[in-house]
Amino acid sequence: MWNTAIRWGPGSGLADATVSAFTKGATVPKVALYSGSKTYFFCGDQYIRVTRGETGPGTVDPGYPKDISVWGWGSFGANGIDAALHSGPKTYFFCGDQYIRVTRGDVGPGTVDPGYPQSLDVWGWGTFARNGSATLNSPGIDAALNSGSKDYFFSGDEYIRVTRGDTGAGTVDAGYPKNISVWGWGGFGADGIDAALHSGSKTYFFSGDQYLRVTRGDTGPGTIDPGYPKNISVWGWPTAFRDCWAQVGSNFHFDNGISADRRARLLERQRFAFSQVGSCGSLSAAERGSLSSAYRRPIWHGITINANANASAFVGQNQVFVNFANLFPDGDDEIAQSLVHEMMHCAGFTHPDRCDQDEFNLGACSPVDVPGDGGDYYDSPPLRAEICIAGNQSDEACFRAADGRNLLLRSGVSPRRARSVSV
Ligand SMILES: [Zn+2]
Repeated sequence: MWNTAIRWGPGSGLADATVSAFTKGATVPKVALYSGSKTYFFCGDQYIRVTRGETGPGTVDPGYPKDISVWGWGSFGANGIDAALHSGPKTYFFCGDQYIRVTRGDVGPGTVDPGYPQSLDVWGWGTFARNGSATLNSPGIDAALNSGSKDYFFSGDEYIRVTRGDTGAGTVDAGYPKNISVWGWGGFGADGIDAALHSGSKTYFFSGDQYLRVTRGDTGPGTIDPGYPKNISVWGWPTAFRDCWAQVGSNFHFDNGISADRRARLLERQRFAFSQVGSCGSLSAAERGSLSSAYRRPIWHGITINANANASAFVGQNQVFVNFANLFPDGDDEIAQSLVHEMMHCAGFTHPDRCDQDEFNLGACSPVDVPGDGGDYYDSPPLRAEICIAGNQSDEACFRAADGRNLLLRSGVSPRRARSVSV
């Protein structure tokens, strides 16, 4: 819940949304766990079990995702765990400043060893994973990696390497913590990774909706395999689980004036739009990347009651305003087209005003822009993103309004008409 009063300024008769409170969902913890013949992935309170070899996505076992409560941990990790470590006959699970040790085989929950949960203090890491990283919001680790004779733990932009056996804390190797930049991943995971997976001769690292496959031994950064990072859609996970993992919308905020039903449809349409864009050839890889990070940012969804508007957004900012009464009756494709268009504005992309027929004799513009013409307006990134939804472009116009926001108009309204009636 956000109680901070957020007000968007007056908008020359166009912007009329005044909102004072938002609700958001928490950021979702993610985990990858090597477990012999199985690999487990956790996202929030859900998990899947996958049958696979050292490489490739393998196959999600039937009946998954399942609820994390299946593991029988009680309140520990009820909303998700931060990391898991395969360690011979033991598996360790980490959540906040606590962890549990479990005796188990390749499959099943096994048995929590007596005396657990215990505090992370037992591991003797000092300030690491407690308060030692500028990018860390709360105590805990992001990822744990079994790597043969070594174990690695990641927290924010730091990591440590530990020499240990199957049980016990072992010893942090000299010179650690180090900065995650040592791994040489460039922009990938610069602020931290979400999960790490030991997988024989390969190690996988996950960050947002991207992952790396690395060829390495027990120690050292190894070499990133050609063609990586890739999008996690490659793994073929069930849609809801993949969206959870990609954190699509998990940082979105919604004006408390938006009803639960409308909020659910808005989020579903946003996630659908994102899923369509992931491999859409209408956008370049760089454009898809910018949009992907916008979908993981805090984006504030507000209300506009401007009668001419379907939606609006400022270029490069973090708000999307929706006129639900106008946009929602236009149907699922139009909603998704409008939302992805506005998200492209949030991602920093823009377009010239659409040139429409001069119905009010307010001055000439030419050529008139029409969907699919490939002109300056319809070939711009926000308009090309629309093609990803249903293969075509909306005929609803967008233009830069007097207050600086890009205003997507309702069906049949031209920028010229919107201007002529807005003053
Ligand atoms: Zn626009």
